[in-house]
Amino acid sequence: MQNTTLRHAARVDAGLVSIVGAAALGLTLVFFAGFANVTHDVAHDSRHAIAFPCH
Ligand SMILES: [Zn+2]
Repeated sequence: MQNTTLRHAARVDAGLVSIVGAAALGLTLVFFAGFANVTHDVAHDSRHAIAFPCH
């Protein structure tokens, strides 16, 4: 009886870990996408600041 309960708990934990892991991965991708966008904007502004031809 206890063994079954433990195994069930382990399965719930594994499910929770994969959900949290997927959420963390998604947030990380969104974060890096936003960060890359900010980095691009800064680099773009810097190019104009030093009159570097960019477009
Ligand atoms: Zn530009």
